[in-house]
Amino acid sequence: MRLLLVEDEARLASALRRGLGAEGFQVDVAGDGAAGLDAARGGRYDAVLLDVMLPRMSGYDVVRRLRQEDNWVPVMMLSAKDGPHDQADGLDYGADDYLTKPFSYVVLVARLRALLRRRGEARPVVLTAGDVALDPATREVTLAGAPVALTPREHAVLEYLLRHPDRVVTKLELLDHVWDVDAEDPNVVEVYVGYLRRKLGRDAVRTVRGAGYRIGG
Ligand code: CA
Repeated sequence: MRLLLVEDEARLASALRRGLGAEGFQVDVAGDGAAGLDAARGGRYDAVLLDVMLPRMSGYDVVRRLRQEDNWVPVMMLSAKDGPHDQADGLDYGADDYLTKPFSYVVLVARLRALLRRRGEARPVVLTAGDVALDPATREVTLAGAPVALTPREHAVLEYLLRHPDRVVTKLELLDHVWDVDAEDPNVVEVYVGYLRRKLGRDAVRTVRGAGYRIGG
């Protein structure tokens, strides 16, 4: 397994390189974001460990560029706790996992192994079903390319359905993930699915009788 480590702190980089080397990984180090992007584009890495705060180009920009270029190498972001962004940002930009410094070496290796099991299959950042697309990073929703304005709750229902495209999602499940179960009447889900259909088309969300909902036609 060959890893690319993009890290500008030389001492951390060499410690990680030594430690991961002892675990049997081949580790190449890039010392800034632009060099890291170039190296990752080569396509020869099984995974990339990517610091967030880097000279020349941030780790967020590196992962975003890779995904825009259809490069799906597994990426784990490494970030200082007090950075200006949080974990969700890195994941929204297309990273697969995220570790906050200082991290335990044992945890790093375990998470890395889990990441490597996924390999580099396409994991598009923008969620789509038919003509509907939702970008979790920008929160933009489009229908056949045209922007659609959704309320936060409508957005949350749509995003949940898009994240589970291969199965029926029950009303209670939506209630649990989008609302506070205890506070709401399950019929509120139907109401919001109705709003989504009005904005995205009747067939955008299908009702599976007696079971729940399913995205797409
Ligand atoms: Ca750094």
